[in-house]
Amino acid sequence: MNGLDLLGPGQRGLLIGGSWRDAEGGKRLDVIDPADGSVLTDVADGSIADAVDALDAAVDAQADWARTAPRQRGEILRTAFELITERADLFAHLMSLEMGKTVAEAKGEVAYGAEFFRWYAEEAVRIHGRWMQAPAGGSRLLTVKKPVGPCLFITPWNFPLAMGTRKIGPAIAAGCTMVVKPASQTPLTMLALAAVLEEAGLPAGVLNVVTTSHTGEFSETLQADSRLRKVSFTGSTGVGRVLVRQSADQLQRLSMELGGNAPFLVFEDADLDAAVDGAMVAKMRNMGEACTAANRFLVHASVAEEFADRLGKRMGTLTVGRGQDDGVDVGPLIDERAVESVSQLVTDAVHDGARVVCGGAAPDLAGYFYLPTVLLDVPADSEINVQEIFGPVAPITTFESEDDAVRLANDTEYGLASYVYTRDLARTIRLAEALEFGMVGVNTGLISNPAAPFGGVKSSGFGREGGFEGIEEYLETTYVALPAG
Ligand code: NAP
Repeated sequence: MNGLDLLGPGQRGLLIGGSWRDAEGGKRLDVIDPADGSVLTDVADGSIADAVDALDAAVDAQADWARTAPRQRGEILRTAFELITERADLFAHLMSLEMGKTVAEAKGEVAYGAEFFRWYAEEAVRIHGRWMQAPAGGSRLLTVKKPVGPCLFITPWNFPLAMGTRKIGPAIAAGCTMVVKPASQTPLTMLALAAVLEEAGLPAGVLNVVTTSHTGEFSETLQADSRLRKVSFTGSTGVGRVLVRQSADQLQRLSMELGGNAPFLVFEDADLDAAVDGAMVAKMRNMGEACTAANRFLVHASVAEEFADRLGKRMGTLTVGRGQDDGVDVGPLIDERAVESVSQLVTDAVHDGARVVCGGAAPDLAGYFYLPTVLLDVPADSEINVQEIFGPVAPITTFESEDDAVRLANDTEYGLASYVYTRDLARTIRLAEALEFGMVGVNTGLISNPAAPFGGVKSSGFGREGGFEGIEEYLETTYVALPAG
């Protein structure tokens, strides 16, 4: 089994207007294996002219695509869901190769990512407006939902499949066309996904994929074009701000899924076994390289030592290695820079007074690895509590009261995911209302679900992906005023 087999001849090129082709000038971009730093393969390095061609193709396809029957759009998504599910092992292998996560974890992402297609296959036929009588009587007020128009999607490397399907799924369901730019470090999964959508019958030009290293100029050029009507971005807050600024001239619709700094609150009445299980998921999913990753463990002082001890024992026994090898629990980080950044945060935390319960170093392996790490007594203002760690490190900070916990949890510019462990229902309700985050997990370390609205507040962005809300991001409302008959 080799995930690279998902890509047929020419499919490491650009997909524009239904044709796979080389980049203008034939330039290529290396894809690196993070488990050893070697070159895995290469893909086309699209130019700015290629990007404009892709937008031309999306614009040309828009009117016909908007007129297709919702059922037809839904059936394409449903077929693609089935094809991805049949080839789940290959998709998982491919994703593991380019991104590093274990094959078992990648299978989880394939199931999660494919589910957005099934969910939006079902939502495509439930797009509707309303009919009402004006309050004063007489005239009738009608609303009609229409696709936003050609979209630009920019996705990150950490979830190469799911970050694509949760944009592409609702866009197809709503009748939008699109240009997709995957992260340069993980372009292969997106190309394989595009090939599946073609096979499922998606008409030429609806989905166009451009892999490119000319990232900044690419978004600048396309966003300056008045034909582009919407940008959906998943990635860092810094880049999100650039894209928001670039949207101003053409007033594009925006969805911004940005960084996080999730607090994981453990109260004195929590079931500690469940809290440790949840912490393992919330911290270690994707080696900690997730926007939803528990970034700050805020634990009541009376149970902090015990929680740290139990979590340290679990984290300390994980096997680090190549994601495609049997028995490996934790794959490599994405690149050398990621390892350096995690190492620096741990060094600074120890300097600030943290104790290392387990890990605390990069192992002596060829690729970009870091050992699962637990730190206790981390001061609340240590940099590791301020920044997104994006690695397998769990810093524990103690609190004395619920008010204290809420204050610490909200003391961040971010507002994406948060987690709470308590057995007190009244406290759960208070926290769900007091925490300034788009998502609150109660006694669970896994909140992502295609049927739920995923998204953040504050510097974590705006807009929602998944759920009933996700398709609204791709629809405009036209109000039609009718006189009484
Ligand atoms: P990133 O550096 O912001 O890159 C994300 C994407 O943006 C990549 O495709 C990248 O292209 C592209 N990009 C970079 N500069 C750009 C520019 N000037 N114009 C247009 N595109 C540009 O983020 P990352 O390091 O890949 O991903 C990690 C971040 O994503 C974390 O902050 C994480 O929290 C966030 N994230 C958020 C969510 C969510 O749903 N809220 C989900 C997953 C990840 P290149 O690859 O070519 O540089």
